[in-house]
Amino acid sequence: MDCLFCKIASGEIPSEKLYEDEIAVAFKDINPTAPVHFLVIPKRHIESCAEINAENSSVAGHCFEVIARLAKELKLEKGFRVVSNTGEQAGQSVPHLHFHVLANREFGWPAG
Ligand code: AMP
Ligand code: ZN
Repeated sequence: MDCLFCKIASGEIPSEKLYEDEIAVAFKDINPTAPVHFLVIPKRHIESCAEINAENSSVAGHCFEVIARLAKELKLEKGFRVVSNTGEQAGQSVPHLHFHVLANREFGWPAG
């Protein structure tokens, strides 16, 4: 399948990886919008949050374990934001499930 994040997960396309196991990969966003900005993705192709179901939700749960682990390692104790843009109107540009993790700046709410 011609999917950018499947290729990053397999190592076919290089990335600055922060973490990897058999289920998930975390790597730095190529166009960071915060001093800390990385993405956590499942290795298996799931298109977006809209495709999470009873059969694959443990993979999404595992991504959140990775997020908590990296937040501790990177000492994000002041806080961080997790975002998953889902679908066209929300601005999803890569159709492979990913969680943005952003930290070390101020964040507005509601998100723009
Ligand atoms: P989204 O627009 O929410 O689908 O997020 C996709 C993210 O992937 C954007 O923040 C991009 O900067 C990031 N991105 C695109 N290509 C790469 C790449 N080759 N390596 C790392 N991050 C990437
Ligand atoms: Zn994919």
